[in-house]
Amino acid sequence: MHEGKLIVLTAPLTEMIDHAGYFIQMGMASMPVWMEFVFDRKYPKWREVKRFEDGSARLAPAGLRILERVAAENFGSDNVVVCYPDDLDRFIGPATRVVAVSTHNPLGVTFAAGVYTSLFGTSRQPINAFYAERMFEQIKRNPHRANFKLIVGGSGGWQVQHTGSAQRLGMDCLVDGRSESAETIALLRQAIAGEPLPLQVQVSHPQDGAALLYPHKPTTFGVVEMTTGCGRRCQFCMPDLHPQIAVPKQNIMAAVEANVRNGNNQISLATEDMFIWGQVRTETPFFFPNREALLGLYSDIVHTPGVEHHVLSHATMAPAVVDPELIRRLSELLLPKSPIHLPTLSSHPQKKALVPLIGLETGSVRMAKQVMPSKGIPFRIEDWPSVVLRGLEILNRNNWFPMLTLMVGNPGETDEHVMETLDLIYEMERRGLFGFLVPSVFTPLEGTRMEHDVGVTQTRQLTRLQWQLILKCWKMNMRPGLYSWWGPISFKLGGLAIWWAKLRKTNGPNFTWPMMMFASIIPEALMFRAGKLYPGRPLKLKSRAELIASIRPNYWKYLREDNGDPPYAADAVNQQEPAVGY
Ligand code: SF4
Repeated sequence: MHEGKLIVLTAPLTEMIDHAGYFIQMGMASMPVWMEFVFDRKYPKWREVKRFEDGSARLAPAGLRILERVAAENFGSDNVVVCYPDDLDRFIGPATRVVAVSTHNPLGVTFAAGVYTSLFGTSRQPINAFYAERMFEQIKRNPHRANFKLIVGGSGGWQVQHTGSAQRLGMDCLVDGRSESAETIALLRQAIAGEPLPLQVQVSHPQDGAALLYPHKPTTFGVVEMTTGCGRRCQFCMPDLHPQIAVPKQNIMAAVEANVRNGNNQISLATEDMFIWGQVRTETPFFFPNREALLGLYSDIVHTPGVEHHVLSHATMAPAVVDPELIRRLSELLLPKSPIHLPTLSSHPQKKALVPLIGLETGSVRMAKQVMPSKGIPFRIEDWPSVVLRGLEILNRNNWFPMLTLMVGNPGETDEHVMETLDLIYEMERRGLFGFLVPSVFTPLEGTRMEHDVGVTQTRQLTRLQWQLILKCWKMNMRPGLYSWWGPISFKLGGLAIWWAKLRKTNGPNFTWPMMMFASIIPEALMFRAGKLYPGRPLKLKSRAELIASIRPNYWKYLREDNGDPPYAADAVNQQEPAVGY
């Protein structure tokens, strides 16, 4: 009989795969389990994961890789393995004392997951949650279960805490915090000694870049940590509670090398805002991007032999308005290595596009003041709609078509707030701007400044305006996919059929008219005239020059002259609106 490894590390299968890019993981996190057949059909090989010769996982989430490094450095690399859940029985044996799981969405109770699974009917468990539960069941049933402790961490740990599921899932200890922490190492030591562990523990976060470890082995999607924290202080945000730290360039490059050395040809830098790297704890405020540092970093990454694909992760909108030249030059560097093609949108010769994830959250200035007053700095939050749409103009012009997240059902949200967000969305449509709009229902995240607030909890509670916002966003997202002759027809018929069969019962009467709009059953103009839907009010936007002129004069020295629109130009604030569209 095999002895097993002392420390076995794993994650739900759906969080370890990177077969088809980010989209499959996002889909798995939000689609209900009965829709798994869609992924099976589109990506028939998604379960075919790669292994090293010893059977360990060739790809694993970056956080798990860092835990692997910590455990190997403290307890010996021969005693540690990272494996896929299907291989757990192969590595867990009588000698195993720790099974550690990293997970970012084990129960599907956050962001898009809740609303999209309930959109599709009564079976609300997202595919991701199904695979996570299956993995926990497998660990529970292992014949050596009495000999080891099950420790769970990762960014999804709060879901377990929030739902009180730790015992049901068989966990001995739920850790909130980083692997590098001395407390995490102490926990592993306790578990190996067979000592009891606290059911829940919070461990400290490193305070500087040198203390953040980087992985020595390949990571899912080639994820390499770039920064922690953010600094814009949105009330609902969990990552912003961590210190603002930039990982040193040599460590990022070492992690890139570790990926390509092991045959992983794609890289993605993990960050809450890519634009703060190079400007953390410098004399310049972090919201004025360090152009040279960013161009140098990305250039070195995409020119590393073996890197064939590069994908952006998170960014913010204001830096695009602050430094459009940076966006232009980043596009020159990054577009050739982007695996994303948007033929109906991109002007790139190979139709390539960049799709970072950017928080739009709300078009209502009043709501923005309440929940994210610094989201647009150095611009005033009163100018948030102008910052969003001017930023999007600059991004679209350079073939960036971001995913734009929105929050629906915030605590205290009124019809007027939703109408203001709809105004911004309709303005975006009028101006021919494009971003993938991803509305989600407000989720109070543990530990954030809004953790005790309550928003909408069931789709039946959503008002007609909130449904209009959600479905208008999705209708606009479908535009690039509906250019074939058959697209609009099948879309209408399919939408009507699903509504008739299921959704009118699941989501209640407020859903009906917005659904008619979504499926284009009745022309929108007719529904506006009949008072069934809100038509949106045109927005008067500030030009970039006006926005720049509104920045506090003590910040003017950080602006780059080659972007034009100098704030001291006498006519800046009187400038006419530039032409719309891209
Ligand atoms: S900008 Fe994004 S990452 Fe930064 S605090 Fe706001 S929500 Fe969090």
